[in-house]
Order: sequence, then C-alpha cells, then structure tokens
Amino acid sequence: MTAQAHDFATIDLNELRSAIGRPDAVTDTAEAIAEHSHDWWPMNATWRHQGKAPYRPDAVVFARTAEEIAATLKWAGEAGIPVTAWGLASSVVGGPLATRGGIILDTTGMDRVLEIDTDNMHVTVEAGVNGGTLEDQLSELDLTLNHSPQSLYRSTVGGWLATRATGQFSSRYGGIEDLCVGFKAVLADGTKVEIGGAPRMAVGPDLRHVLIGSEGCLGVITEVTLRLFPLAEVRELRTVAFPDVASGVAAMRDIMLSGLRPFLLRFYDLAEARHAMKDSAFGSPVMFIGAEGSADMAACEIAELLKVCTRNGGEDIGLAGAEGWMGRRFDFSTIENVLNSHGGVAETIEVANTWSGISGTYNALTEAMKPFADEVLGHFSHAYSNGVSLYVILLGKADDPAGAEARMKQIWEVANRAALDSGAVLSHHHGTGLARNDHVREALGSSWDLYSRLKEAMDPSGILNPGKLGS
Ligand SMILES: Cc1cc2nc3c(=O)[nH]c(=O)nc-3n(C[C@H](O)[C@H](O)[C@H](O)COP(=O)(O)OP(=O)(O)OC[C@H]3O[C@@H](n4cnc5c(N)ncnc54)[C@H](O)[C@@H]3O)c2cc1C
Repeated sequence: MTAQAHDFATIDLNELRSAIGRPDAVTDTAEAIAEHSHDWWPMNATWRHQGKAPYRPDAVVFARTAEEIAATLKWAGEAGIPVTAWGLASSVVGGPLATRGGIILDTTGMDRVLEIDTDNMHVTVEAGVNGGTLEDQLSELDLTLNHSPQSLYRSTVGGWLATRATGQFSSRYGGIEDLCVGFKAVLADGTKVEIGGAPRMAVGPDLRHVLIGSEGCLGVITEVTLRLFPLAEVRELRTVAFPDVASGVAAMRDIMLSGLRPFLLRFYDLAEARHAMKDSAFGSPVMFIGAEGSADMAACEIAELLKVCTRNGGEDIGLAGAEGWMGRRFDFSTIENVLNSHGGVAETIEVANTWSGISGTYNALTEAMKPFADEVLGHFSHAYSNGVSLYVILLGKADDPAGAEARMKQIWEVANRAALDSGAVLSHHHGTGLARNDHVREALGSSWDLYSRLKEAMDPSGILNPGKLGS
C-alpha cells in the first residue's frame, strides 16, 4: 500500500495526441490530475485532509470511442507507459488509482445508450454510462436492469463489470456476471474483441469471465449488453426481528433453499439494526424481506417468506423498517460524515463464506475489528443456496488525519488476515484494488498460477493497472 516510483521517462503528450488523433483528448492540467488522483476508498479522505495525493497520474485521456482507447493502449504499450481505466472512481478499495503514474483512461465520455431491444430484453450501452442515469431512462419505459448497487448513481456500467459488482436485489437477480449478456473490449495491444451475446453458449470456456472482475488489469471494456426486465407490478415488504444473529442467518439459509426468490433479503446484527431502523434504542437483529411480481404472486411469496422467518424465531414487526430502508438505499451519509470529520475513521469490508463457515467469519472479523473502531456493524445481504456475504462497517475517530491513515492501514492488514484465516473469500463484490492487493496471491491459491499466465499472455508489458490483482 505504499506509493511506487515511476519506472518510465516523461510522457510525450503531443505524440500521444497524434496517436489518438484528437488533441483535446489528452490533458495534464493540474485540475485534471488532481481529479484523477483519488477514488472513494476511505483512505483517500485521510490523504485529502493531509493534502496528500500519493498516486498521481501524469496524464489523463478522456476517451470518446473504442478506437481512441485502442490507439491509447497501442501507443502506451510501445512506450512502456502504465494505463489505468477510470469509471466514476466509486471504488472503495483504491481500484483506479495510478500506482505507477502514467495515463488515466477516463471512460465517462463514452456514455451513450446504443440500443434498447425490448424483443430480446437487452440494453446495449457504452461502458462509461452512469448506472443511475441509465436506470432512470429505463424506468420511464417501465423497464429495469435489476442491478442496484448502493453506488448506482455514482458508478459506470464498465466499472460494474470490471469489479464484478453486485446489487441490493442480487438474491433474486444475481450479480453483474449474471446480468451481463456480452461486451466489447480493447486488449493491452489495442486489439478489439467482442464476447458473448447469446442466451447461453457451449463453445469453449465462457470468455466473458476473463474480463469480468479483472479490475482493468486484462483489458478495457468499451461497450456492454445487459439483460432487461419489466418493472414489477407490485412490491411487498416486511421487517422481521430476530432474537440473535444465528437465527436470522438460519432463516436466510432456509429461504434460499425453499425455492422462494425474494428480491430483497438483508439481515442486520444488533449494532447495525439500530442504524438500519434509524432507532438507537432498537433491541434486536432485524431482517428486511421483499417479494415482487404480480399482486397475487408477491402476496403469496411474502406470506411464505414470513412462515420461514417465524419457524426460525423471527417476528413480523411490519412494513416501516424495510420501507424506510428502500427509500434510503443509496444513502451513504453515515460513512461520508465520519470521513469528512477531522481524524474520522470509517471502512467497509465485504467477504463471503459458506453457511457452515459464515458464523465463524462473522465472529472472527467483528472481534478483530473492535480495537480499531467505536462501532463495528455487520450485515448479511447477498445470499446463495450455499452461503452468504458478510459486510462489516467500522466507524471511529483517531486524533488526527495521520492517525486515521495509520489506523486504516492496520484495519486492512488485520481484516484481510482474519477473513482468510476464517476461510472466507477475500472480497465478495468490491474487488481487491490496493486495499487487498498484498493478499491476492494467497487468496487465489493454486489458481494464482493460471491468473498470472493469463496476465503475462494478455498484457506482456504489464501496462494495464499495475500494482493491482497481485502485481
Ligand atoms: C457509496 C458506495 C456504495 C457502493 N455500493 C456498492 C454495491 O452495492 N455493490 C458493489 O458491487 N459495489 C459498490 N460500491 C463499489 C463501487 O461502486 C463498484 O466497485 C463499482 O462497480 C465501480 O464502478 P466505477 O465506474 O466507479 O469504477 P472505478 O471506481 O472508476 O474503477 C473500478 C475498477 O474498475 C476498473 N475499470 C473501470 N472502468 C473500466 C472499464 N471500462 N474497463 C476496464 N476496467 C475498468 C478500474 O481500473 C478500477 O480497477 C460502492 C461504492 C460506494 C462509494
């Protein structure tokens, strides 16, 4: 996690401009460099408070087409200059920070919606489109992506694929890997590829997965086709109180094995329930459940979901908690307010484990984090037939921003260790970025060799987002 020296000479901006063929695509103004030196990793807040920017690029390319991206990569490959793709920088792990300087490739100028195909229920967009803008446009047509990360309005579709993102309705609709039909990308040497597009295909390995989750280290995604869904006719919501964490987790497991398909399934431990319910005196862990579809289907499904909860000790406490959360589901202000304060310490750490391992991970991670924060909150929000994610939030205060920076470094070292030692995956959906880079090789185990061969073959000069995914 330390700043690395540049290992190339200066960038000849005029050469780069003529390679791209549009002079105003390239800039090195102080303003553009500053804007592309920080992402949403909370560590950046401590740097900003100290006037630090340890990962500054040397130039920014504002790409408008796949051809401009291809020209940039070809030129940079020949000159040995690092290139890091940039969406809306909502990464909370330092993903788009230019660890070795070089070029930031800003994709947000590629924001056109290219086709809405209501026969096949696909939408094709340029990779830099803002997810929230797209979703708003679709909802005017009574359509939805059913991909709803908390960062919907502050992230790009290309960024979703690159980080293997997942959304708040994933227990029914899956993560971005399930919602992505296909995409176009540019490889490190400037070659353009198009992958996928069919409902399913058995022609060799599924090559979409080479780039989904590759964090800008294997190619740059330029165009994406996602599934579309009609907006649900009706949504039924309920709030269920549970006596303890174990009973709520058991209910989630039973729900995922019951054949029910809740679009909303989130369970908060006592500490986070008080935040989720906006009631500092709230007295138990709490679950928000939701069913959607036709009125009859949603009514039937919510009744069945409540039966499973009741069998596991849950008590239906009405609509308000879940409804309130739905209205605030993009709100990040609790964490933002802490980070904006002098010496504020806040972090979000998401992992996943099997049903038999998740309690051990919950206990290990929340205990390991207690020395570093005033509040350690936990919730389980993405469930599968075989396990569930765990999201831990830390809120605290150090004496000053330098103290906060040191504390947050410790948090990641201890959290990564605790997660791996408890048998959890290193990241469930934020990706690895800088926060987890030192643990990627260990997390991939024997498959690290396969990934490093792919990296060597696809990016032999190592120009794509160096310092990430174990490099
Ligand atoms: C408030 C908040 C809430 C969040 N909630 C969620 C959530 O619910 N679910 C979730 O999954 N994540 C969440 N995140 C994390 C973040 O929003 C996601 O990781 C998101 O997918 C990043 O998209 P971006 O466009 O901002 O990408 P960036 O942050 O700009 O980049 C992320 C990584 O992707 C690479 N990249 C970006 N664009 C491309 C491209 N076109 N081609 C190749 N590589 C590219 C970058 O190099 C970098 O490594 C949240 C973040 C915040 C700040």
